[in-house]
This record gives sequence, structure tokens and C-alpha cells, in this order.
Amino acid sequence: MVHGLTKMGPTKTIKTLLMVNQKDGFDCPGCAWPDPEHRTTFEFCENGAKAVADEAMPARVNAAFFEQHSISELSAWPDYKLNRAGRLAEPMHLAEGSNHYSPISWSDAITLVSDRLNGMSSPDRGVFYTSGRTSNEAAFLYQAFVRSTGTNNLPDCSNMCHESSGKGLGQTIGIGKGTVTLEDFNRSDVIVVIGQNPGTNHPRMLTALRDAKHNGASIIHVNPLPEAGLMAFKHPQDYMKANFRSTSLADLHLPVRIGGDAALLKGLMKVVLRNGRLDRSFIDEQTTGFDQLKGNLAQTDWDDIIRDSGLEREHIERAGNMLANSTATIACWAMGLTQHRNGVAVIQEVVNLLLMGGHVGRPGAGFCPVRGHSNVQGDRTVGIWEAPTDAFLDGLELGLGFPMPRHHGHDVVRSIQAMKDGLVDVFFCMGGNFISAAPDTTTTADAMRNVPLTVQVSTKLNRSHLVTGKEALILPCLGRTEVDSQPSGHQFVTVENSMGVVHRSEGKLKPASKDIRSEPWIVAELAHSTVGDQHLQWRHLVEDYDRVRDLMEGSLSGFDDYNSRVRQPNGFSLPNLPRDERRFATSDNKAHFTSHPLPDIDVEEDQFVLMTLRSHDQYNTTIYGLHDRYRGIHGNRRVLMMNADDMVERGWKSRTKVDITSHFEGEQRTARDWLVVPYEIPRGNLAAYFPEANSLVPLNSTADQSNTPTSKWIVVTVNGHGESLTEEEE
Ligand code: SF4
Repeated sequence: MVHGLTKMGPTKTIKTLLMVNQKDGFDCPGCAWPDPEHRTTFEFCENGAKAVADEAMPARVNAAFFEQHSISELSAWPDYKLNRAGRLAEPMHLAEGSNHYSPISWSDAITLVSDRLNGMSSPDRGVFYTSGRTSNEAAFLYQAFVRSTGTNNLPDCSNMCHESSGKGLGQTIGIGKGTVTLEDFNRSDVIVVIGQNPGTNHPRMLTALRDAKHNGASIIHVNPLPEAGLMAFKHPQDYMKANFRSTSLADLHLPVRIGGDAALLKGLMKVVLRNGRLDRSFIDEQTTGFDQLKGNLAQTDWDDIIRDSGLEREHIERAGNMLANSTATIACWAMGLTQHRNGVAVIQEVVNLLLMGGHVGRPGAGFCPVRGHSNVQGDRTVGIWEAPTDAFLDGLELGLGFPMPRHHGHDVVRSIQAMKDGLVDVFFCMGGNFISAAPDTTTTADAMRNVPLTVQVSTKLNRSHLVTGKEALILPCLGRTEVDSQPSGHQFVTVENSMGVVHRSEGKLKPASKDIRSEPWIVAELAHSTVGDQHLQWRHLVEDYDRVRDLMEGSLSGFDDYNSRVRQPNGFSLPNLPRDERRFATSDNKAHFTSHPLPDIDVEEDQFVLMTLRSHDQYNTTIYGLHDRYRGIHGNRRVLMMNADDMVERGWKSRTKVDITSHFEGEQRTARDWLVVPYEIPRGNLAAYFPEANSLVPLNSTADQSNTPTSKWIVVTVNGHGESLTEEEE
């Protein structure tokens, strides 16, 4: 309510929060946790309320604002102050060498971009980024436009988050998505939550875990940190029923060392194997590679497992027995697995563990990579993909009627390298806050400043409007909560949640300004101006988004009868062969066990392993405030969480000032002036918030195969200044 009342006032707060995640309302622009079939009156969490209140805040960032505030002044503002500046209200242009944005008309802005794109010596000198808030319709038109220019340079935020999941699952079960439904949580025996902090990043998942517990499930929580959300949970609405009891969620917390997940998973598999609770018929008939895996496990020594996981054998045995006795197991994960050098391999260890018991394609069992952005999965499904398969491009050619570029494009890391090398003329961002989300902040900033023109389609002010190309444009767009009116009337868009359900979202609030436009409109205008209407009638398409959906139906598999099915109250589920038919679209139509060596997670004597994470007062790179209340950290974000014994060993008190230096292939990156605080984290491990700690993540430190930045594995040293601040001084 604090966020609602301070940003929207009482009436708008009630009105808006009653529409979030409702069947005829709008989808929360927060994470991608699915909505239950039966919605509660208030179907949102605290972070959902913050995300919505942010979109509906009255403050405006317009020509007068930019006249008053220069780029250099704004660059000194902390991120949460930038975020609170308000909604972007009109198109703005930053001329080369200027320190102030100035207003520009939509038509001049569109012409400026299309002239630059048409002036490029090669279509591959254009890079088109997408953040996961973009709707299916906008994303589909965007990829069609970009591909009509001749490039697949379509990096997106999933390159930095669940790309390892897509690769790991795609290679083993034939689909790069999860295989469970929300209902499966109520039919599960054991739910493993590994490398994920749902309490902050997918809060309504706690309701599903609570209900699963009430239905008899056990929960195993694997995380270096004892995250509050999985310790005990009270559903805010229980208070209204005078029910003050909380539900302790995790039956077992395994505080694994950073990078120790693979060792733990091999330990769990050894216990399951020893107990002989295998789904033999499934393994024999529908999988390959089991014997190699058995050999690999036999060669994996328990001492190595204990050392690398940092856990006691009895705890691994206990968890292993819970899994061995389970008839239906779900595994949920997020960045704690994906943002590692071995991200793809460790996810495949999760696959190995579940395949052993046949925990796929039956009630209460399966894989659940939980997406952190409301439509990041949808964007990939409809074509935001720098490395599409030929089959996917064949479908687009059939539906769109023009040839597709076949050479793969740049993902996020390769885009930054290309910008750094002067190979990019136009960097276009559909949403997001690229400079803050990307790794290696200083290198990425230099790379962006090396680009002749950067364009940001955005709702609110952020740091990517201040760290720009030589010339820059801001194109303000409608938020998810706002009415999208086109010639045929009010439009709705569609999104896809973590469980592959496509459903509609219709904005209800009056747009923040008459000078902002919808994302589909912006893409259509740009395409019309850049490539013309030889292939598609871009403006005609966005007069009525049903026309865009008809085009999608003809170009994508699984979107049959799209316009009528998405009008059903709960939308529809996209096909998912492992979930729906327990079949696998792999090269041999079998699920694949894989065998991977234990990763080397040892670091030198005085080194630590750092992981970046979100506070409870942020959503991705959007900083709402300075209070990470679930961890008891308030008022400061430049905080380094360290094990108390590691601090004592160095004679450091709480709030000792330190510098952090990362080490990678002989390179060093230093971030200064952090306050170290004691926290319950394994020895030798550290945690700090992003985006502040992203400057320590080397650009080329990425996961094998998925090229995802290793934000959860940063080798660092920490040097104390010898002084510590009091709370008052801090
Ligand atoms: S759980 Fe995610 S989608 Fe649901 S209200 Fe919260 S932030 Fe929004």
C-alpha cells in the first residue's frame, strides 16, 4: 500500500490493484509466475504492486525535465532516484556532443532511425535488443521487421538469464521450457527449489508452495543463503481471515557452496541409485545414456562431493532419501544455476536426477525454470532469438512470405563485443535498461558510447538514457497497465508465462501522456519507414492487433485459432511434448542422460567467489528503494555480505570499508568503497547486489554453450581500508 498510495493515491491504488492479473485486466509487468485458474480479489504480490505503482506514478519526464537536468547531472543520481523521476512523456533526442535531451516529433524520430538503418553498409551493423516485458504482438512484429532488414541480431534479456536452461533442456528433453503446470504443484511429493529466491523474485510462487505443503509435499531448498521466503510464509490475505499462522516451507535447507550444486546433485543421484528407486521401464524405453551416467556417478567420490558442495553427508543422504521415496518430483531453478560457467551442465544434472525417477510428463512431476520477466519466454517463442533453427525460420518464411536471413546473429555478449569493435551503427533497445543489466559495466559503457546511434523504447527514466551512443533517442511507450487505443478500438496484447500459458492483457488506465505510443505502433511506423510495405502492410496490421495474431498463427507452431483461444478466460497452453505426451523431440526421440565432470570450483588462498543478487526492493535493474528487508539490510546497496568467520579472520568489523577486485584470465576489475557486513553465507563466498556489482563481471566470463554472463561466479579478492563506519556515519 505504501508504494500504491505514495505513487498513485488511494482511489487509483484500489482501482489499479483490483485489475492486476485478473482475467479481464492486465498482466503484472513483474515476473512470469502464472495466475491460478481461480483468481483471488487481490491477485498480486508486493513486487507486483511496486511494478504497477511505478507505471502509474504521476511524475513526468518531459522536455521541461530534460531542459532542467543535464546528462552529467542525472548521471550522478542513484538508480532509485532516476526511477522515481517519473514516466517518459514525449520523444526526446540527444544530439552528438550535447549534454541535454531536446524534444523531437515522432515522425522526425522515426525518419532519423530509418535513414540510419538504410544508410548502413550491412544489415548486421544494426543490433536490436529486447527486454522481457515486450508483448507477443510487439515482439513478433519487431522480429519480422528486423529480419526483413536482413539480420538475426536479436539479442534479448534471456541471453543473460535462462539461456542455459533453454540449451540444457533443449538438448536433453527436446524443448527449452519447463514441463509443469501450476496444478502440478498440488500433486507433487517433493519440490526442489535450487538456485532461486522466490520470496523476492517470484513471490506468488510461495502461495503455490504453501498449498503444495498443505497437500503433503516436502520442499528442499538449495541455496547458499537461507532466503526468508522459503523459511516461513504468511499469505497477506490470510490476515483478512484472522488466520495468523505461518507455514514453514522448506523441510530442508541445503546451504551449498557457490558452484557446489553439481557435486550436490551427483550426491543425490548416488543416493537414489543406491536405493534403487528408479523408473526402469521409462529409463529403458524412453531414454539414452543411463549407463554412462551410472559410470560417471560411480567414479565421483563422496569426498569430492562433500568438499565441493560444502554440505554434510547426512544432509545429502536425507535429501536423497526424500527424492528416492518420491513418486512425483518437481525441480525449480533460476539464476543460481544458469549464470555459471557450467550453467548448461548443472541444469542437465537436474535433468539426470529427475529422469532417473521418470519425473517428467506425469502429474506432480517435471522441470520448472522460473522466468523472472513477465514475457521473456513469450518473446523467445515468437521469434526474439539470435540463433533460430532452420525449421523455425521456415515457418516464418511461410507465414510472412519473405526470405529469412539464415546466418545467426549476436547475443548480448557478442553485441557488446561488436559495439566495442566499432561494428555497430545502430543499437535499438525495445525496453529494458541494457547498461545496468549487462556485465562488465565499464566495458559495456565504452561499447555503447562507440555506437553512432542508440535508441531506447522505454516507459521510465533509467541509466541507459544517460550512457548512450554518440547520438541518442528516447521513444516513450505505453505501459502494460495503460489503454492501447488503435483505429479499430482498444487493443489487448498477449504474454506467455513460465508454464507456457498464453493469455491476454488489456491496459485499463489512461496513458501517462498523449505523446507516448504502443510498442506495436512504434515497430510498424519504423518498419513502414525503413523497409516499406512490399512484404507486410505494417500500419494496417497495427490498426487491429487481431491481424498481427492472424499473421502469428500462420507463422508459428502452436498458435492455431489464436484469436479465439486467447479470448478464453485463462488463455491456452502451448504444446509441450514432454508434459503433454511424455515424448521428446530430440534427435532420437528419447530423453538424454548426460555425463559431466565435476567443475573445478577451487580458487586461490586469498580469493573469494562472489555472486550478484537482487535486494527485496528491486525488480531486475529497477531499484524501488534501499530496503532489503527480508535480509535485514536497510539504507544502503553498496554492501558486501560475508561470512562472519571470514571477517573475524581479517579483523574486520561490520561496516568495514573495502574494495573488491575481480580476477579473470589475468584481467582485474576493481569496484571501490563497499561496506562489508556479516551474513549467513558459506565461508569463502560473498554476495552483493547488481547492477552495482556488475562492473566486476568480466565480459568474456560466460557459461559454456549458452554464453550467459557468470554473474553467480566471480572470483575476487577483497581489500580492507582499515576503517569501519558506525550506523550513523553510514
Ligand atoms: S509473483 Fe510475479 S507476476 Fe505475480 S504479482 Fe508478483 S511480480 Fe507480478
